[in-house]
Amino acid sequence: MDFIIATHNKKKQIELQRVLSPLSINVLTADDLGINLVEAEENGSTFEENARIKALSGLHDSSMPCIADDSGLCVDALDGAPGIFSARYSGENANDEKNNQKLLEELKNVPEEKRTARFVCCICCVFPDGREINVRGECEGKIAFEKNGEGGFGYDPLFITEHGCFGNLTSEEKDAVSHRGNALRKLAEELKKINL
Ligand code: IMP
Repeated sequence: MDFIIATHNKKKQIELQRVLSPLSINVLTADDLGINLVEAEENGSTFEENARIKALSGLHDSSMPCIADDSGLCVDALDGAPGIFSARYSGENANDEKNNQKLLEELKNVPEEKRTARFVCCICCVFPDGREINVRGECEGKIAFEKNGEGGFGYDPLFITEHGCFGNLTSEEKDAVSHRGNALRKLAEELKKINL
């Protein structure tokens, strides 16, 4: 069975395909299918709600089983921010560089032991017959004092895990421990259980 991935984030799309394809889950993008996915308004108040909004919108636009991810970084010293607002943390014209700078600024007086954080990834998979699967993956770490490495995307250069900074990990090393990798492996397990 083919699935469409509902995301406009190219880096995220690559990670989704990288983990799911070897698990025999065939994932296509809107570009692959030559269709347009309307950007759904993420007006939920949790990662779970926003993932579901995106998945249902993708299903509506494609009439195909659809997989969507909503993810972000939750920093303890900031009471869980930026959380579901991770992509737009630095405002209207947010980008990865501005978001990272804002995070460093917000944490400039926070000592190393209080810089704990986690990446969260919620994935929703919906089917035309109404079935749906929801999974959540997390990855614990700490926020660095400066950017490290050139790998990954988003807050990766600032996120330090026991395996190293995401910005310095290879794709395979990140997938093995990341919030998205963990959520996708759970999704693969759930898909195996249902009669596709
Ligand atoms: P979404 O597209 O609304 O789910 O926003 C996700 C945002 O969270 C991204 O734009 C990044 O800022 C951040 N994020 C999510 N996953 C990752 C990751 O694996 N590495 C770095 N940043 C991430």
